[in-house]
Amino acid sequence: MSNAMELLRSVKDSTDDTEFYTPMPEGYEPGRTKYVAVFGTVMSGLGKGIFSSSLAKLLKDKGLKVAPIKLEGYLNIDSGTLNPFRHGEVFVLDDGMETDMDLGTYERMLDQDLTGANFATSGQIFNSVLEKERAGSYLGRDVQMIPHVTGEVKLRLREVAMESDSDVVFIEVGGTVGDIENAFYIEALRELSYEEGEGSVLFVALTYVLSPPTLGEQKSKAAQLGIKRLMEFGIHPHLIACRAEDRVTDKVRQKISIYTNVPVNRVFSMHDLPSIYLLPQIMREEGLDSEVVQMLNLGGLINSAEDARNSQAWEKFSSKIDTHTHEVTIGVTGKYTALRDSYASIIKSLEHAEVANDAKVNIEWIDTTDINDDNVADILAKVDGIIVPGGFGVRGTGGKIACIKYARENKMPYLGICLGFQMAVIEYARNVCGLTDADSTEIDPDTKTPVISVLPEQKKIEGLGGNMRLGGQDVMIAPDTMASEMFGGATNIRERFRHRYEVDPEYIERLEQAGLIFSGKHGEHQIMQILELPRDVHPYFVAAQFHPELTSRPLRPQPMFKGLVKAAIETK
Ligand code: GLN
Repeated sequence: MSNAMELLRSVKDSTDDTEFYTPMPEGYEPGRTKYVAVFGTVMSGLGKGIFSSSLAKLLKDKGLKVAPIKLEGYLNIDSGTLNPFRHGEVFVLDDGMETDMDLGTYERMLDQDLTGANFATSGQIFNSVLEKERAGSYLGRDVQMIPHVTGEVKLRLREVAMESDSDVVFIEVGGTVGDIENAFYIEALRELSYEEGEGSVLFVALTYVLSPPTLGEQKSKAAQLGIKRLMEFGIHPHLIACRAEDRVTDKVRQKISIYTNVPVNRVFSMHDLPSIYLLPQIMREEGLDSEVVQMLNLGGLINSAEDARNSQAWEKFSSKIDTHTHEVTIGVTGKYTALRDSYASIIKSLEHAEVANDAKVNIEWIDTTDINDDNVADILAKVDGIIVPGGFGVRGTGGKIACIKYARENKMPYLGICLGFQMAVIEYARNVCGLTDADSTEIDPDTKTPVISVLPEQKKIEGLGGNMRLGGQDVMIAPDTMASEMFGGATNIRERFRHRYEVDPEYIERLEQAGLIFSGKHGEHQIMQILELPRDVHPYFVAAQFHPELTSRPLRPQPMFKGLVKAAIETK
C-alpha cells in the first residue's frame, strides 16, 4: 500500500482537521484493481473509445476481468436529450441508461453488457456533490473542486472497480486535454495514481500526427505540444498512441519519444484502418498488450490457453472483413443523413452481418423528405434492401411510408426499426386494411384512426407518465414464425427499447386478419414488438419495436440484420 493510502485509510470524510478527502466504497482495497486512463490531445474525435476498448479487449481475451467507464465533460445527466445530429447516436444500455455512442463501442468490442455505472457525466458528479452538501455530509467544510469534486470522481471509479470486481478498469476521459470541462477529471486521475500507488494506474495519451499535403511528410509538433499540455497537469503518459492517416514513421515516433521520455516501443502508430475491428490484432502484433501487462504487473493473472482461443476466434472474424463473395446495397432512410455517427450502431450491425454472410454491404443513405409514390421506384432502383431506422417527429415520415409500401409490394427485403416498425404498421393499415387515414398520434395528434398511439395503460405500467420505455425487455417469440427461425427457436429473447408510442391494441385483430403477423410480444401486456409477413407472401418483411442494432456483436451478429443481408443477397 502506498504511503498516501496509509494516510488516507482512516479518513472517511473531510473535517477541518485534515485536508484529505477520499470517500471509498465499503471494502475497497487500494492497489488491488489496476486502472488505465486514456486522454485525448490536439483534437477531439481521435477514437479514444476505439483505442481503449481494443486494449481492454486484448486484456479480456487473456482472462482478465475488465470494465470501462466513460467520463463525459458535459453537464447533462445522461445523453437522452442530446441531438444525435450534434453528438452521435444515443446508445441505450440494458438498465435503461441513455449514453454516448462510445458505450456501444465498448459493448461490441468486449461483448459485455454495461450499466449506468460505466457512464459518468459532469452533471452526475456535480449532482451527487450538491446532494451531499444539502445532506450536510461535508461536516462544515466549504465544498471545493479539490478535494470534493475530484473525490466524487475517484469514488465513481472505485465503485466501478468494486461492482464489476474487475482486474482492470479502463477510464476514457471525454473531450481534449485543455478543455475546462474535463480539467477536474484529469486532476482526479492524477490524485488516483498517487493514492493507488506505483504500478497501479497507467496513463495513455492519444494524439494526432499531421501530414499537410503541401509538405508531403508527417509533422510531430502538434502531437508534442498536446502531450506537453497533459504533462502540465502532472500526468506523465506511459504510452502514446498516434492517430494518423498513414502509418506513423519511425522518425516521428522517435521524435515524440525524445520529447516525452516515453520509450519508442510504447509510441504506437494508430493509423487509419478499413475497420476498427482490425485494431486489436495490430496492437497485439506491436506488443502493446504485453507492455501493459508488464507495466501493471498482471502477468500472474494471464491465461495463455484462453488468450490463444480468443485471439484465434477474433482473427477468424477480422480476416473476413476485407473479403467477400457477394455484394449488396442496403438503403437506410434517415433524417440525420448528414452525420453517420447518428447511425453508428446500425452501420456496425451491418458490418457484423457482412462477415456472417460473406458479403460486402454498401450503404445508400436516403433522405425521405421529398419521396412520394411517384418517384420512389427510381430512388430505390439502386438498392437491394431497405432499413427504416428509429426517429422522432413528423419530417420525412410520408416518404418513409412510400418506401415501405414499395418494399412490401415489390418484395424488396425490409427491416423496420422502432419508428420503422410503427411506419410499417401504418402503411399496412392504410394500404391493406383500407384504413386510409390510419396514423400515429406522434404525427397527427387528432387522427381518427390512431393505429400507433401512447396508451393510458402503458403510462400506468411504466408509472412514469408519458415517458419513454427505455432499456432491456424480454420479447416472447411466437413458434413457427420467421422470427422464431431467425432466433434459433428461442421463445424468449432480450432486446433494448427506446420509444413512447406503440401499436394500439384496438387495431391488432384487424391487422392480423389482413395478414400481418406479430411474431414478438410482451410477456404480459398487449405490446407488439416484432412484426413480419409470411415467407410465401414476401421474402423478408420484418420490423421491431426495439432497436436490434444495440445488441449486435461482432462474433454474435444480431439475427434481424443477418437475415436482411441474407435476403438481399438471395433476391438481388
Ligand atoms: N418516435 C417513436 C416513439 O417515440 C419512435 C422512437 C424511435 O424510433 N426510437 O415511439
